[in-house]
Amino acid sequence: MKIAYLGTSAAEGIPALFCHCDVCKYARKYKGKNIRTRSQVLIDDTILIDFGPDTYMHSLQYDISLADIYHCLITHTHDDHLYLEDLRARRRSRANLDLGTPTLTVYGGRGVKKVLKPDDNGFVTKDKSIFYQPVYDYSPFYIEDKYEIIPISSIHNTTNPLVYVIRKDDSVFLYAHDTDVLSEESLLYLNLNNIRFDAISLDCTEGIKHIDYPGHMNFERMKIMCDLMRKYNLIDLNTKIIANHFSHNGLISYDDAVIKGNELGYIISYDGMILNI
Ligand SMILES: [Zn+2]
Ligand SMILES: [Zn+2]
Ligand SMILES: [Zn+2]
Repeated sequence: MKIAYLGTSAAEGIPALFCHCDVCKYARKYKGKNIRTRSQVLIDDTILIDFGPDTYMHSLQYDISLADIYHCLITHTHDDHLYLEDLRARRRSRANLDLGTPTLTVYGGRGVKKVLKPDDNGFVTKDKSIFYQPVYDYSPFYIEDKYEIIPISSIHNTTNPLVYVIRKDDSVFLYAHDTDVLSEESLLYLNLNNIRFDAISLDCTEGIKHIDYPGHMNFERMKIMCDLMRKYNLIDLNTKIIANHFSHNGLISYDDAVIKGNELGYIISYDGMILNI
């Protein structure tokens, strides 16, 4: 499975649109991997995860023809993960799709349904170019017969937020943003279903900042989550652990995060990173 990290930041981007903080100043000065756009990944050039406000830029930067992507999983409705105005640009008045181009299916939980407002047949646009497919916590489904997707309840402050397990043949990937440490119920579910991850992409919104609110992780909480996942036999020494979805408020630049990642055995994500598992 090829996992392309198109964007790797939290809602504000790094540098944030309007900011004087040290992380943003550093990113503006040194650029390169210190610049992060809003989080989005593309699996095997086939399945997009999330559709944030930098999707258009990603399509230009990485030469992705969005008209030819037919599946998009949405984790939750915060604006860095679902930017409806640009998604709706697939409708006829904005897009000229070749005759017979398949519908784009957008998958998500109850919160996503509320935002997309599909008609009684599930279509989001009158010309049927976008279809909403409801998904349910702990109810696996298939995309193109070869990707098994398991939505897992995340712990995040919005309606029915989800993280996704994606399995193709022997490769198993967890995309877990934005969430706190997953519940023991979720970890037990994965354990009972004999899931062993080749790679886990964990929320590191708050970086090295100490936090006492629920809903996101930092390096400290990532370690708690990894320890729990080991306890439930979900990861082992061969599992790649990726820290991703960084906020400038996490007080760490990419350059410094790499040093931290080396200490902890984590891969630090950056825009354009390709992971093959
Ligand atoms: Zn986010
Ligand atoms: Zn900043
Ligand atoms: Zn969020």
